[in-house]
Amino acid sequence: MSRRRALVWRLFLSYVLITLGALLAAGWYSMHSLEQFLTEQIAADLSQRARLFEIQVAPHLSPPSTDAIDAICKSAGKNSDTRFTVILPDGLVVGDSRENPRNMDNHSGRPEVAGALRQGSALATRFSETLRQPIIYKAVAVPQAEQALAVIRAAIPLSRMETELSRIRLEIFLIGAAIALLGLGVTLLVSRQYARKLGELQRGAARFAQGELAHRLPIPDSGELAGLAESLNRMAEQLEGRMQTVVSQRNQLEAVLSSMLEAVIAVDREERLISLNPAAAKWFETEPEKVKGRSIPEAIRNLAMQQFIVRALRSRAPMEDDIVVYQNGERVLNIRSAPLLDAHQEPIGTLIVFNDVSQLRRLENMRRDFVANVSHEIKTPLTAIKGFVETLNQGVVENPYESKRFLGIVAKHVDRLTTVVEDLLMLSRIEDQGERRELKREKTRLREIFQNAVQVCRPGADEKRIRIELAGDENLAAVVDPVLVEQAVVNLLDNAIKYSDAATAVRLAARQTADEIQISVQDHGIGIERKHLPRLFERFYRVDKARSRAMGGTGLGLAIVKHISQAHGGRVDVASALNEGSTFTIHLPKDPGPA
Ligand code: ADP
Repeated sequence: MSRRRALVWRLFLSYVLITLGALLAAGWYSMHSLEQFLTEQIAADLSQRARLFEIQVAPHLSPPSTDAIDAICKSAGKNSDTRFTVILPDGLVVGDSRENPRNMDNHSGRPEVAGALRQGSALATRFSETLRQPIIYKAVAVPQAEQALAVIRAAIPLSRMETELSRIRLEIFLIGAAIALLGLGVTLLVSRQYARKLGELQRGAARFAQGELAHRLPIPDSGELAGLAESLNRMAEQLEGRMQTVVSQRNQLEAVLSSMLEAVIAVDREERLISLNPAAAKWFETEPEKVKGRSIPEAIRNLAMQQFIVRALRSRAPMEDDIVVYQNGERVLNIRSAPLLDAHQEPIGTLIVFNDVSQLRRLENMRRDFVANVSHEIKTPLTAIKGFVETLNQGVVENPYESKRFLGIVAKHVDRLTTVVEDLLMLSRIEDQGERRELKREKTRLREIFQNAVQVCRPGADEKRIRIELAGDENLAAVVDPVLVEQAVVNLLDNAIKYSDAATAVRLAARQTADEIQISVQDHGIGIERKHLPRLFERFYRVDKARSRAMGGTGLGLAIVKHISQAHGGRVDVASALNEGSTFTIHLPKDPGPA
């Protein structure tokens, strides 16, 4: 504001100075010219008077008659209000309108007299001691042959011209002052008008600066300001368009980032968070707005992640790594980085994307383990079979009884292989059916399933004199695939019998809760140590490998139970204590959902 004022006032002041300067110059020049003109006029007038006077006085000059000349001087002076003086070439005054010539000193030293004697006429202005005022003198020589006969001098007081000049000076001053005032007024008016228009433009521009880009400046009528206003309006329009593009692009980007399951964070070169999406904020248990601008160590508590970010900031190439974090247990995060570049391809930070790959990595490990386990399970009997067959083939065994024993062992290994392969096939079938929801569900009484399963396991139980007790509500019915559920119950009963001492009891029970049907198999056998429980249902997982193999186990029985339960939308769990026994429970949802 003050600057704009300063500009307007400066303009105004310069106008004022120019106007005053011009007026003063013009005034001074006209006064000077006028003074010169008047002086010339007076000089000419005095010359004429002197010449006229010369006509009267000439007859008395040769020889000079002082009395006659002085008398003419007195009367002519009185008539024409002019002082005449007649001076002889030697400076002697012989007549004067005011004084007695005899009392007057020699006038040869007067500049006008000397000038007239030298060049015919001369003009002089000076303060007269006699008259006590400035006087203008004009002296002319009265020629005779080659020499001047006398010098006639006419003089009037300068005050007359001065009075005239003062009057004119006053008039010029008044007119000048009037012009100056008018000029100042007009200048002030124009300046203020400009100031107002500039003010309007300035206020409009300030509104643009505050983000009111829809505002439009009024177009002033003066050329340059109108151009300026139009340019500003155009600029605001373009800015508005660009802002809208930027905002909509940012919204799109934010929508994309918000809906991403992957966590995304952007970090600047000073290791501060530029932005992060909701998925990332969830990982750091915070809100995006709270941590924006914070330093990485402040915002992210995980050391491995911090170190990765530091490495990523130093690298110009994308990087990838798996890191382990502890958040609701151990989680594996796959983390990738890509450098953030500005318009000139200069790095300004890094973009980090990470997601939870715990499940994926677990599955990968399981698959690897599974392949290794299957190979191992198959290789062991195959090696044995190969050894016995080769021995028999070489004919080293001549004893027919021994040969039969060998063949019996081979047959046992073949059976084992067959069991492993059958169990694997069953597992993959159940998985398949479960995934494709192709179970052959039908409403079945659990009693029937239990009876069939008990029948299958009876021989083994009898062998160890183990009692199988049926308990709970056997009349319960469930919509299940009866063949699969029977298989699951058989596997659990089989294990219970296998891992129990002789002459104990195994209890098979069914129970119904609000939303589940539970089938449990309880034994009082060897039990399972706590540390094995989490992995018990994995394929080929055994607590005691040798014991399991010796009993003809494949390590797949519980995995089959788990998959049958899952295919029905349920689950299986175990409660066990070492040397006390175990209880395996299958939980099946009452409402089976879409089959
Ligand atoms: P296996 O064919 O070896 O029995 P399973 O998958 O059926 O394989 O069982 C896995 C392991 O769990 C077994 O090797 C055994 O160590 C343990 N197990 C299963 N059932 C019981 C049980 N009722 N009591 C004690 N241990 C059990």
